[in-house]
Amino acid sequence: MRISAAGTSLGASGRRAGALLGVVLLVVPTHAQRSRVPLPPEVRAPLKEALQKPYHELFEEASRLEFNAAQIAAMRRVLEETQKSCTAQYKRRTEDLEKQLRAEQASLKTQSARLDDAERKQKHCVIQNLRALGAQARVLAEHAIPVAYENRKAKLELIEKWPEEWRRIQAEIASGAHHQRKWGDVKDIGFRDLVPGQERDIKDGQEAVRQMKLAGLMPPEIENETVKSYVTSLAQKVARHSDLRVPLNVTVLNSKEINAFALPGGFIFVQRGLLEAVENESQLAGVLAHELAHVTGRHGNKLMRKATVASIIYQAAQIAAVILTGGAASIGMYYALQYGFYGLGLVLSLDMLGVSREFELEADQLGVQYAWNAGFDPNGFIKFFDKMATKEGYVNGLSWFRTHPPFYQRMVHSKREIMFLPAKDGLVENSPEFARMKEELQKVTAKAEQEDKERPSLLAPVQGCPAPEKIEYKSGDPIETLCPEPGDGKSAGR
Ligand SMILES: [Zn+2]
Repeated sequence: MRISAAGTSLGASGRRAGALLGVVLLVVPTHAQRSRVPLPPEVRAPLKEALQKPYHELFEEASRLEFNAAQIAAMRRVLEETQKSCTAQYKRRTEDLEKQLRAEQASLKTQSARLDDAERKQKHCVIQNLRALGAQARVLAEHAIPVAYENRKAKLELIEKWPEEWRRIQAEIASGAHHQRKWGDVKDIGFRDLVPGQERDIKDGQEAVRQMKLAGLMPPEIENETVKSYVTSLAQKVARHSDLRVPLNVTVLNSKEINAFALPGGFIFVQRGLLEAVENESQLAGVLAHELAHVTGRHGNKLMRKATVASIIYQAAQIAAVILTGGAASIGMYYALQYGFYGLGLVLSLDMLGVSREFELEADQLGVQYAWNAGFDPNGFIKFFDKMATKEGYVNGLSWFRTHPPFYQRMVHSKREIMFLPAKDGLVENSPEFARMKEELQKVTAKAEQEDKERPSLLAPVQGCPAPEKIEYKSGDPIETLCPEPGDGKSAGR
């Protein structure tokens, strides 16, 4: 494990550099629990390599991969052990950092009267740095590491089970049995009575929007006309080919989170981070279709009967408060925390939209249908999911993945639906309009980032301190960078 030593090179006095280095050196990986190699290297290496591949490649390759059940079970044990030890390591680290923080705060209190301005400032900087490091370690232990391993295990399951599942799907198609699946009447999209009463949700949606604005949880809208009208017309195109029976209301928000969410009654919110993350039109159409499906499936209505809007917003604010202390942002994604917005998508997915596994799977199925019906390549959804889960999911795309149904189930469920859809020529993957939107978006992003820099942040309340240290872990790095596997041959503490 490498820890950034940024704190040592920021013009700090030797003493402070020493103090920060002390923080760094505390994190010593344990060599003690190194277990025996459970898999011969000639199996382990290709299996590990396979687990790094995107889902859509594994769907193609799974039947050609020859790993037996014992090997897969052994690999699963390796993943589980590594997840456990890695999580434990970062939990201990969180506790250590929090202990150091309390000690620094105690010493500040006892010495406060004697400190001159420079000394006081230095202490504030040390405290700020410890807070940021502690929050990062906590986010890694509680979110990033578990999600990354869920993803690895899902791929292992895919290698194990997909070849048989594929044969079953082919048999269903051959016999025509797939027409009997729930919502298998895809030629009647828009005319079938999916879930009656969508129009009764409009009022709830409006009220939710109003309350979110009141609570200060709604980031500003993007003003760029090209971006706005592109996203709106794409969403409308998908909506026209869906089961939506209420007017569509699209808002593009200027926030860094990679997310989109729907409120009951036809309100779709797309965040800037999502537009930055999608690689082509079919991916964006897939995400929009998924959100539309939450509206047509009336999922918000079903969940809002259990929780009031106010209680959801209260939770959003609480989560935002935790994140504002530096947890998420200091991993390297400086979100537009000033709005306290990062937590909102998370909570909306959890409590309004995504908490139910059943709803999420429904939205995946219907979303794939809508994207396809609107003429887009439905694989775009899987590819975007892939990109998020493989490269960034466990850090940046948190709200998409936390407590959603298991990855394996979602991927297979979506893939199965795609296979069941009638063949269609000329499905669109990309368009010149998408490229134009991306160009304009760069300007929007550059401006927003500049403004974020100029705005005082809760993350760095002490002006003139060195930027808080970062745990050296870039989003996009495989999780093994953070958590070397026991018996992997490499030293755990590089
Ligand atoms: Zn969803």
